Amino acid sequence: MRRSIPIKKLLPVYVSVLVGCIALAGIGSKVVTTMVETAPLDERTCIVVDAGHGGIDGGATSCSGVLESQINLQIALRVDALIQFLGYDTRMIRVTDTSIYTEGDTIAEQKVSDLKNRVKAVNETENAILLSIHQNTFSDGRYHGPQVFYSDDIYSRALAADMQEAFGVLDPVSGRKCRQAKGIYLMEKIHRPGILVECGFLSNPEEDARLNDPEYQKEVAGVIAARMATHIKDAPLT
Ligand SMILES: [Zn+2]
Repeated sequence: MRRSIPIKKLLPVYVSVLVGCIALAGIGSKVVTTMVETAPLDERTCIVVDAGHGGIDGGATSCSGVLESQINLQIALRVDALIQFLGYDTRMIRVTDTSIYTEGDTIAEQKVSDLKNRVKAVNETENAILLSIHQNTFSDGRYHGPQVFYSDDIYSRALAADMQEAFGVLDPVSGRKCRQAKGIYLMEKIHRPGILVECGFLSNPEEDARLNDPEYQKEVAGVIAARMATHIKDAPLT
């Protein structure tokens, strides 16, 4: 069962996306137009969109039996399309259900290789900002709500706090706060700012159903893309 979200609460998200659309149509915002005209391509921020897991590594399994890796990819593809639509550069780490390992004989070794390659993809991309998409799970099915984790720098913290607040339109009651990503290999090894978004809990039957619903995926992607776009002007260059 889906809750309907009051239009008033979604308004900031719609307005953010709309501003980008108007700018692209060439009839409004001079801010975006100016940025595109003056920033050389190699000095522009590139959002590295990482759909967590994939291939041999399905991640968590939802209570309805769907692999986390599939939902991650569906949402990541939507986010990527929206960010590009707003006129910003992106690089997707994977666009199909695949792992990106390059060495290892066992699944454990291949998972390590996969993670190292994701770190490499971020660190070798000029002016990268990592956006990693995941889903949460817990033994108690009551817990729900999106949560944003950030790497240890001021930019990532501000971006995560803003995005966490924006997620309040999708889940007004979870009360979740953004947190520093501790003990997460990818987030600790990158040399650039980054956030990891746990879009919701696959262990909660209602939220699992929502996360598999294309319409809800669009709402999640809209919040993420709008917040990334809002903060991109503040992103530190390499
Ligand atoms: Zn995950």
